[in-house]
Amino acid sequence: MTAVRVEVHRDRCLATGACVYTAPGVFAVGDDAVVAVIGDPEADPEAVRNAVAECPVAALELAEG
Ligand code: SF4
Repeated sequence: MTAVRVEVHRDRCLATGACVYTAPGVFAVGDDAVVAVIGDPEADPEAVRNAVAECPVAALELAEG
């Protein structure tokens, strides 16, 4: 079992909300219009992988291991 972690490139995020839609328990867009990790990525690794893949500006990066 590998651990799933997410690195956030805050400077790239355009606050589209796509990752929030895909993994609402893990990502949120704050008042500063930048994504934040609010939950444990391990709770739903598949949704997290999809959210990372779907981010239109590659602001999310999977770090497994
Ligand atoms: S999908 Fe990407 S650009 Fe959109 S809110 Fe999430 S991290 Fe930001």
